[in-house]
Amino acid sequence: MYMAIRYTCRHCDTEIGSLPFESAKELIVEIQQLDEGKGERFLTFENDGEVTVRCICEQCEQSLRTFPDYYTLAKWLQ
Ligand SMILES: [Zn+2]
Repeated sequence: MYMAIRYTCRHCDTEIGSLPFESAKELIVEIQQLDEGKGERFLTFENDGEVTVRCICEQCEQSLRTFPDYYTLAKWLQ
């Protein structure tokens, strides 16, 4: 049983924040249902009951606005 969700930036490793697991459960399910294990890139299941979601911080999002492919992904994760 997972207890908490931690969000970290996958570009610069900044910790963005955390949520109780219940609040983010649906997001986790959606990520896990992505094709071909793509969700594995965004989720890390820790032994201590935490789930780390690799997303993007504001700073990196701004710098990635010039790259349309990444921008689409960043919006989806928010
Ligand atoms: Zn960042």
